[in-house]
Amino acid sequence: MKQGQGPNQKALALVSEALAPGAQLMVVGGWVRDHLLGRVAGDMDLATALMPEDVMRRSKAAGLKALPTGLQHGTVTVIANSHGFEITTFRGDGDYRDGRHPESVHLGVSLREDLARRDFTINAMALPVDSLEDAETPERLVDPFGGKSDLEQRIIRAVGDPLKRFAEDGLRPLRACRFASQLGFDIEEITLSAIPKRLDVSAKVSVERVFAELTKLLCGPDPKRGLQPLADSGLLDLWMPELRPMIGCTQNRHHRFPVWEHALEAVAFALPEPALRWAALLHDVGKPSLRTADETGGVHFYGHEALSMEITSAILARLKVGHALSREVLALVRHHGTFPTDEWSDAACRRFLAKLSEDGLPLKQWGHFRIADQLAKGIDETSNMLKHQIVMTRLGKLAEENPPLSTRALSLDGRALMELAGKRGGPWVGELQNHLLAAVLEDPSLNSSESLGSLAKNWLHSHA
Ligand code: ATP
Ligand code: MG
Repeated sequence: MKQGQGPNQKALALVSEALAPGAQLMVVGGWVRDHLLGRVAGDMDLATALMPEDVMRRSKAAGLKALPTGLQHGTVTVIANSHGFEITTFRGDGDYRDGRHPESVHLGVSLREDLARRDFTINAMALPVDSLEDAETPERLVDPFGGKSDLEQRIIRAVGDPLKRFAEDGLRPLRACRFASQLGFDIEEITLSAIPKRLDVSAKVSVERVFAELTKLLCGPDPKRGLQPLADSGLLDLWMPELRPMIGCTQNRHHRFPVWEHALEAVAFALPEPALRWAALLHDVGKPSLRTADETGGVHFYGHEALSMEITSAILARLKVGHALSREVLALVRHHGTFPTDEWSDAACRRFLAKLSEDGLPLKQWGHFRIADQLAKGIDETSNMLKHQIVMTRLGKLAEENPPLSTRALSLDGRALMELAGKRGGPWVGELQNHLLAAVLEDPSLNSSESLGSLAKNWLHSHA
């Protein structure tokens, strides 16, 4: 077997043997693309000329487990050596009416027809499973639409007429932008020019699918290559029209780039994790409508973090983003503009750590985001990075001392405070806890039952 085959080669050979003869068992789609690119290939999709019943029957006859996991699409999962292979009968798609799913699929077509229904030429190639064992396979690659040449030229081109293909399925234009980011490819001109003409079809795609594609796009190694066509084609406006004013919104001496380019830079600099990348895209979305210029020509965006949070929150809700991710993105947006300086006291730094902790944002994550945002400004990187290191070291040291950062960490809990006061709970408990927290953030050594007890008594006295 050739390199990159992974640990499933034996299992695959068992399946191949079980289905022979006449099965034309092929690896198709994304795996072939990634294999030819020398990338780590993901799931292996298999296709065959056999009908699903035959796949089931022959597998079972050879002692392999076979499950009818997607019979309506012609898919059977065959399990060999505990590894499941999805095997789909060569199929063509019927008419598309809803802009997302074919009305019907028909089985028993040729391999060429199966490849013709696929979205892009680079995803429409097949390799016979048995050829994977040869030292050299290129001549056995089935590539009716020039996928290999497009891989070499690094372009994403629709199979057939892109206007027609994008009318069938509105997800495809998004996938084109996503592959541009993941592979660092450009979208071929005619394919690209078809996207704006089919926005009405893309608008029908469920937001869950949109969010999944956008997240893959954002987390790719070359996100600018995906985001730029997303914006230029008008796809972006379908789900995030609030981002449009960022384009061309010029900034001040702290920034080399307008807001949109800055956001793209920040996405590219951020670690490829969904929260960091989404926050990078959205952290300054509130800037354009708050832009002001003073009499000396200085440009300001006062209060943009709060507005950016508000808009981000609306966008994430629209895309039905889950709670944990939304929370982290919003926390990053909220705190991206705060930066402790030399003048800050230790107590002020602890108050900042307390805010991060209240929002569930780890200091390290805040630091990662801060680096991306700084680098994306494109100005004075070295001195910014130095300042950043100094601040992170200082905050890190303060955090290591494990100071109490929330009311939960106070050495007197709510019950103890009620006992001390000799009265039942009420809003006063929260108020008192906040008062005590403020005191221990100022001076962590006060976090003992005795000190807090006397502070509490004073407070109760003045609030009697
Ligand atoms: P990934 O690395 O994300 O898995 P992939 O190319 O394997 O990329 P899948 O969504 O797993 O993408 O789809 C497998 C194959 O099915 C694709 O390579 C392509 O041939 C075909 N395909 C997937 N989605 C579509 C679509 N919307 N329209 C046409 N063909 C599609
Ligand atoms: Mg795949």
